[in-house]
Amino acid sequence: MQKDFYDFIVVGAGAAGLTAAQYGARSGLSTLLIDCAETGGQALNIFTLENFPGFFPAVKGTTFIQNMLSQTQSFGAEILNTKVLSIDKVKGKFIIETEKGRISAYSVLIATGAAHKTLNIPGERELCGRGVSYCATCDGPFFRGGKIVVAGGGDSACEEAFYLSSLADSVILVHRRGELRAQKAIQQKIQKVKNITVLYNTEIEKINGSEKVRSVLLKNNLSGEKTEMPCDAVFVFVGMTPRTELVSMLKKDEGGYLITNYRMETAVSGIYAAGDVRAKPFRQLITASSDGAIAAHQAHEYVTLLKAQKKNL
Ligand code: NAP
Repeated sequence: MQKDFYDFIVVGAGAAGLTAAQYGARSGLSTLLIDCAETGGQALNIFTLENFPGFFPAVKGTTFIQNMLSQTQSFGAEILNTKVLSIDKVKGKFIIETEKGRISAYSVLIATGAAHKTLNIPGERELCGRGVSYCATCDGPFFRGGKIVVAGGGDSACEEAFYLSSLADSVILVHRRGELRAQKAIQQKIQKVKNITVLYNTEIEKINGSEKVRSVLLKNNLSGEKTEMPCDAVFVFVGMTPRTELVSMLKKDEGGYLITNYRMETAVSGIYAAGDVRAKPFRQLITASSDGAIAAHQAHEYVTLLKAQKKNL
């Protein structure tokens, strides 16, 4: 049964949170992992995970997360599915209000990740779920044999275009600049796929359709020329916004990501940040896991010292 006090509470059950909970529990901290959504975070959307060392041949993101979850629970970490409403530090302890009641802890890790950004163009919100999507593995199979437009030029857009090309007749990757942002290896992978076309210097101005997506209005931002292109679906992968609303007291960078030192410590002692919510140069599953392991190690040191000080009082 869930307790009302833990040594270490992890908020967010993606790769960073799962790793931290595993390391925390294994080091002897009573550990609770809280998430309001399905355990796994963005990794659940990965069709084939091919760049996590030690997992060869590639595995599905869902398989990877299921293994991580079982491993975390095997060390005694508890999982609570609820929404965290607030986090406050009171007299050296953290008070966490959730939809299932109040829980306290000596230390807290923020591993809440990031949410996808939108294009903010006419038709996007109206046709969401009717051809506009932000998850290729969830919705791609609905458009088997169709013509799919993918917005964005980063790793996500290219990886997801690659996955969608296995289902669709054609995939049109629409990128606003003259070169892709994605890692070179990922760019080379999509260049080899015959049914992926990249439209550079092009923006989607509008998504047309009533019951479902019918076409997109494209604008070449060099020539100003506008064209309407028929399509069945628009998948949007234009970056992420960090989820930091619970921790307004913590410092953020200009992009809104939480600032930590290399030990994952924030400016408030006892509270750590890990994974995609943290300001850092490279966001990958493996860097999320690395952050989680370091944060749990630091939390263990912090809680051990705190308990020793209490004993000596
Ligand atoms: P990202 O790297 O921030 O790329 C976002 C892309 O969307 C950029 O190409 C950007 O264009 C474009 N964009 C942003 N706002 C736009 C708008 N309003 N209209 C049109 N285009 C817009 O985001 P991401 O691809 O989601 O990746 C997020 C993080 O996850 C990255 O750190 C990435 O490395 C990581 N990731 C890794 C893998 C992997 O290794 N397999 C897979 C997925 C994600 P500009 O280039 O012009 O700015």
